[in-house]
Amino acid sequence: MDRRKFLATTGLLAASGAAAPLLGSCRAGDPYLDGASVAVKDAYRCDLLVVGGGPAGVCAAISAARLGAKVLLVDSGNCLGGMGTKGLVGPFMTCYDAKGETQIIRGLFEEVVDRLIAVGGALHPKDIRQGTEFTAWISEGHDHVTPFDPELLKVVYDHMCREAGVKVLYNSLFARPIMKGRSIRGAVLLTPGGFEAAEAKLVVDATGDGTVAFRAGAPCVFGDPEAGRVQPSSLFFRMNNIDTDRLIAEVVPHLPEFRRVNGVSYRCLHWRVAEAEAAGEWDLARKSVNIWRSVEKDQWVANCTRIHGVDATDAESLSSAEEEGRRQVQELMHFFHKYVPGCEKATLMGTGSVMGIRESRHVHGDFILPVQDLIDGVIYDDRILLSANSIDVHGAMGGPAGGLYMPITKDFYSVPYRALLPKDVDGLLLAGRCISADSAAAGAIRVMPPAMAIGQAAGTAAALALQKGIDPKQLDYSDLRPALLEGGACLDRQ
Ligand SMILES: Cc1cc2nc3c(=O)[nH]c(=O)nc-3n(C[C@H](O)[C@H](O)[C@H](O)COP(=O)(O)OP(=O)(O)OC[C@H]3O[C@@H](n4cnc5c(N)ncnc54)[C@H](O)[C@@H]3O)c2cc1C
Repeated sequence: MDRRKFLATTGLLAASGAAAPLLGSCRAGDPYLDGASVAVKDAYRCDLLVVGGGPAGVCAAISAARLGAKVLLVDSGNCLGGMGTKGLVGPFMTCYDAKGETQIIRGLFEEVVDRLIAVGGALHPKDIRQGTEFTAWISEGHDHVTPFDPELLKVVYDHMCREAGVKVLYNSLFARPIMKGRSIRGAVLLTPGGFEAAEAKLVVDATGDGTVAFRAGAPCVFGDPEAGRVQPSSLFFRMNNIDTDRLIAEVVPHLPEFRRVNGVSYRCLHWRVAEAEAAGEWDLARKSVNIWRSVEKDQWVANCTRIHGVDATDAESLSSAEEEGRRQVQELMHFFHKYVPGCEKATLMGTGSVMGIRESRHVHGDFILPVQDLIDGVIYDDRILLSANSIDVHGAMGGPAGGLYMPITKDFYSVPYRALLPKDVDGLLLAGRCISADSAAAGAIRVMPPAMAIGQAAGTAAALALQKGIDPKQLDYSDLRPALLEGGACLDRQ
């Protein structure tokens, strides 16, 4: 029985695109569980609890620990890195300005890249240009990305956390906050030992989904509430054993035909997708595939699956998406083997151990970063980073594959400190994908280099607030700015 017939008989093909309806999952005041009887474990008493060990959480934890805070970093998985490791997402998107002239995201991001390069785990972004095999041949908004090896990234993060003195707890799920009035004072965790409590003076929510802030009572929205939409999810996978020279020879003559029509991309291998479609061997909602050469020449990262309407805060929705993602990967492997020169013997190295979630909750603060400020290149007085990553909202045009993609026309935009401060909850900072931003703005700053810079700022602010014995909302930017500069952040035109 061939692979397609097997999938059809197991019912997986029929499930194509079938994700649960969503947008109902931001419920305030969940009667989640009674944590009153959960004792605080002495080893989990800390100054700063960082929940979520993705790129934002790791950088928050390291920066705070380097400034003297006692930091506990908890993650539900078995490694640090979040989407960049468990999700197999890569490369790091651009850390340069829009002209591709100057690196503007530095600090811990740059340190991570340098350490990766030292162990053969990344290629330096200065050498990686857009329009090449390293960018799926995308020729705008993707200059100077950073290919990296996810396994070595896990080890680099481990080393950096250990060196900084961060205590890391793996396989530990944040269950609910411990509150005193409107202040968060710690969390009940579900660890392999059962429910255990951690006590902290301050907390950083780096869960991506804003789970801590939501459960603590901060206002949240899901996806783009006005449009009633959330960005589609994608299960990443990696392949090796690809004859890269033959693949490049296949793609390059077609570069002049690359185009976008009504938000739908006809880019890499669209002519081969058309062949597979004509033969009845393609049922995916896309017209081309995004594959990115990685550090090793025969290894490629594939960002080609797409599942619409996934609610990452709902176990049923997420579960059916995981299954559908794996089905699509099998369909894509069949496509690569049969239709793509150079990929006949491609091996599936692995699929992400978590679904790639582009968007879920956005936590709201008094200030909500609007996408127009990114388009206008607004440079805030309380900026914590500069970035020029494109506004990239998959599925924004409603069609099965239609997205909004806007490269930045100003040199860069900025993210202000106030976007890290949730409304209605004290003692809490936001970091990464869940900061207070509208859906389209989040579509730009959600990628890993800005997420890391945001994390570094959150950790730095937390450490300073701890030193001063104040809430992060009371921290004066004139104190934060020099500490960010000291940590290598780039806050002004170079
Ligand atoms: C399909 C897709 C493609 C992308 N492509 C790129 C790309 O090419 N380049 C790029 O730079 N960026 C890309 N991104 C964006 C980027 O990977 C993420 O937005 C980024 O990783 C966000 O960082 P984060 O730290 O906020 O969250 P995450 O990376 O999601 O990390 C959050 C961490 O928190 C943990 N966590 C969550 N809830 C809990 C809990 N309750 N208790 C304990 N731990 C918890 C998770 O396990 C995870 O480890 C892509 C994202 C997706 C989904």
